[in-house]
Amino acid sequence: MDPAVTATERIRIVLVGTQHPGNIGAAARAMKTMGLSRLALVAPQRFPHADAEAMAAGADDVLAAATLHDTLADAVADCRWVAGCTARDRRIALAQFAPREAAAQALAQAAEGGIALVFGRERTGLENHELQLCHAAVHIPANPEYSSLNLAQAVQVLAYELRIALLAARPAEPTPSPGHREPPASHAQMEGFFVQLAETLDAIDFHKGRTPEAAMHKLRRLFLRAQPDEREVRLLRGVLADAQRMARLAAARGDRD
Ligand code: SAH
Repeated sequence: MDPAVTATERIRIVLVGTQHPGNIGAAARAMKTMGLSRLALVAPQRFPHADAEAMAAGADDVLAAATLHDTLADAVADCRWVAGCTARDRRIALAQFAPREAAAQALAQAAEGGIALVFGRERTGLENHELQLCHAAVHIPANPEYSSLNLAQAVQVLAYELRIALLAARPAEPTPSPGHREPPASHAQMEGFFVQLAETLDAIDFHKGRTPEAAMHKLRRLFLRAQPDEREVRLLRGVLADAQRMARLAAARGDRD
């Protein structure tokens, strides 16, 4: 199975004691946009609820599959690594991560088994005994004067970081340049083009006594970076051929005059 798929299935978002059902729906939507689907609810105050459905929009499948638990311990019982998200810096003996580091940790841990990201109540957050069930705390480094994000928005930040970490962990695929319908020109085709480019620059007296190497070096870098395809190289060579022809005509005229 695709390791990225395995990882997302092992990542659980846990909402503890959520007060506003709309936040549960918005969290489900935040998850689904980032490719996550495992939602666990610990003693939500009102659920199911029409506000949750409304805020979930197209993520009603995530809501429908959400599991319900009486306690946080029950919701994370089968997880190997649990991180609690807190709006405040708390003096707790827990490793504290920023979201990006937490996402990297989470993915590393997900290779071994289930992991959970836990979010607290809107008014009071997570209780200390709940944080004590966690291996780490995660704090979004928000404005210190006003650091408490809306619950679903905090879920969105973490889900986004998980997605970026997952995408980065995928084996790199060559990114085709937009608009390429033909394969990139071969090494030999590029070298043929460079020979013609050098001849053309001579013919139009581009260097004016300077050594040609410096300009050619920069032009080579530019064209190699652009990775033109075969058709584009033919077009460029057509332009050069015309320039060479004009230079020959001008030279012949100069000889005559
Ligand atoms: N007044 C509460 C805020 C709760 S906000 C408190 O001080 O704890 C609801 C939940 O959103 C929090 O429990 C936490 O899980 C998450 N959250 C909000 N802001 C956050 C932040 N800056 N960093 C990490 N999590 C945050």
